[in-house]
Amino acid sequence: MSEETKPCDHDACNCRVPVEQEYCSEACRLAVESQVMSGQCECGHAACQQRVRS
Ligand SMILES: [Zn+2]
Ligand SMILES: [Zn+2]
Repeated sequence: MSEETKPCDHDACNCRVPVEQEYCSEACRLAVESQVMSGQCECGHAACQQRVRS
């Protein structure tokens, strides 16, 4: 079985999703649809948890 993945369509999101899926979560869908470009993903997944503070 080949599991193809692509990056989540939310630009600020670091998650990967199955190719037939657009977003990793409802949070990402809402962020894109409401055009909230905060530069911070709020999906809550591990890949997006780390806050860049340097
Ligand atoms: Zn994310
Ligand atoms: Zn996402």
